[in-house]
Amino acid sequence: MSGAVTRKVTLLAGGVGGAKIAEGLAALPDVALSVIGNIADDDDFHGLWVSPDIDTLTYSLADVIDRNQGWGVADEGHRALDTLARLGADTWMSLGDRDFGLHIYRTMRRRRGDRPSLIARDTARAFGIKAEILLPTDDTVQTRVRTDAGWLSFQEYFVRERCAPEVRELAFHGLEQARPAPEALAALAAADLIVIAPSNPLVSIAPILGVPGITEALRQSPAQKIAVSPFIAGKVVKGPADRMMTALGERADAVGVAQRYSGLAGRLVIDHADAALADSIRAQGMTPACSAILMQSLEDKTRLAREILDLAFAGVPAEAGA
Ligand code: GDP
Ligand code: CA
Repeated sequence: MSGAVTRKVTLLAGGVGGAKIAEGLAALPDVALSVIGNIADDDDFHGLWVSPDIDTLTYSLADVIDRNQGWGVADEGHRALDTLARLGADTWMSLGDRDFGLHIYRTMRRRRGDRPSLIARDTARAFGIKAEILLPTDDTVQTRVRTDAGWLSFQEYFVRERCAPEVRELAFHGLEQARPAPEALAALAAADLIVIAPSNPLVSIAPILGVPGITEALRQSPAQKIAVSPFIAGKVVKGPADRMMTALGERADAVGVAQRYSGLAGRLVIDHADAALADSIRAQGMTPACSAILMQSLEDKTRLAREILDLAFAGVPAEAGA
């Protein structure tokens, strides 16, 4: 047998932070990657179903993402949005012309009754992506954010209000009734390694784990389980996770992340800058591993992905015939 054994890796991921480690894992030749994305940011805009986190994964893995923003398509125009603005529509949600094509396609197939998981799969294939992009559920789950001004949809909070209001409460409409997608359950059961991406624990990872059956499948999987912290030196790289965690009474650092993922993953990869938190992480029942976890270049992403694999499998002999 030539070369390394292929490891089945299943990643739980949100948008920008999730896509970075997804790209690193996808670049490893000895990894067969499945990514379970977050659908709770989804919403209807102009009659079209938009799935921002799944699209960020798709555009990143297809290498058509706008690298400056971290989301949206590179070389994008906004003529469709200009027309909508002229017609008096609300256009605070920035949707590019190329991007609109995908939303039209998704909406058309949903109206036909196609399963969202199959639409995501076919989209990934059409974009030339080798990894599997999976949905936690084919049902609709939507994050709602309570602020002092009342309840907002997630995109109203995140995009229109630019995360400015304090978050008083989070709710996930439809989560309790959601049924897990069979492909997601199978990917958790079959994985050699499950990775929880450095995504927002509250609004990206929680609505995946909250789909009834997903956490159970993760717990029952014999896979190695490793999480990566989205906090570096007590700060987020981007986004509102720190303010949200503080507002909801959780620690906004790698220890707060360990509190959330304890019992779900054995190890937590933290930044060298957070080495002093190692004992507190151990006290939460997770084994810390220090690394450089800021991912800017593809090299950063691939190196971190390789380190995660080494953590999981170093010293583990390859299964005979695998
Ligand atoms: P969103 O859905 O686009 O908001 O993205 P995610 O939920 O997947 O990721 C948001 C989180 O990613 C934030 O809390 C960031 O701190 C984290 N993040 C972004 N870039 C990096 C990075 O390079 N390294 C690490 N460790 N975390 C990152
Ligand atoms: Ca998101």
